[in-house]
Amino acid sequence: MLELEKISKIIIANWKLHGSIEFAKEYLEKLTFVRSDNEKSLVVCAPSTLIQNLKTDKFYLGAQDCSNYSSGAYTGEISSELLKEIGCSFCIVGHSERRNIFKEDHKLILEKIKKLINSKIIPIFCIGENLQQMKENLTNDVLKNQIHKSLPKNLDLSKVIIAYEPVWSIGTGLIPSVEQIEKTHNFIKQNIFNSSKIKVVYGGSVKASNYKKIIDLDSVDGLLVGGASINSDEFNKIVEF
Ligand code: PEP
Repeated sequence: MLELEKISKIIIANWKLHGSIEFAKEYLEKLTFVRSDNEKSLVVCAPSTLIQNLKTDKFYLGAQDCSNYSSGAYTGEISSELLKEIGCSFCIVGHSERRNIFKEDHKLILEKIKKLINSKIIPIFCIGENLQQMKENLTNDVLKNQIHKSLPKNLDLSKVIIAYEPVWSIGTGLIPSVEQIEKTHNFIKQNIFNSSKIKVVYGGSVKASNYKKIIDLDSVDGLLVGGASINSDEFNKIVEF
């Protein structure tokens, strides 16, 4: 399994339900990022059918979700083992779109995380408060609850990435202040995990024009980029980090 400790900053692209085989080919050609060492890394989480079209030594492959089942009569599901077989090293889990649109709850997310860890895939576990919760100053409580309910006990902290994604920031163009991001990341590391070892990346409306001030924060170990990751020109600027 990949050693997260050796990575200093990581950028994760979430294509969501976008792309095509042709798009994947062009993306690979246009992407300027070169993986020179383990310190700065890139992960691309594409729709599952495109993952095999993205094999490259420029970045690691990731999926956007996996089943909580290993195999059986579960029509439409894709297991963590199948993702592993096609080369996935990472998988997003608990994204707010899955929580809100597909009604995924803490327990289901926990089961998915366990499957991923068993398959030696690093879960990119998304957490974040919604607008109402932010306004009511509930952010820290929400994050604590999401982590306690969905992370397995005795977890090896070097085998998971936490993606702090305020739900009100995803796809809206709104982002918390850098002070707020720093504060929240420090809360996650110091108060929830009591460890600086845990990797915490920020996600929500990251663009070429704002990524630098966020990724340069000490408490930020990387970025999860949605919309801007499918625009090659924009994304090439972000991967200059
Ligand atoms: C995301 O989908 O995880 C995300 C952060 O989206 P966007 O960058 O478009 O806000």
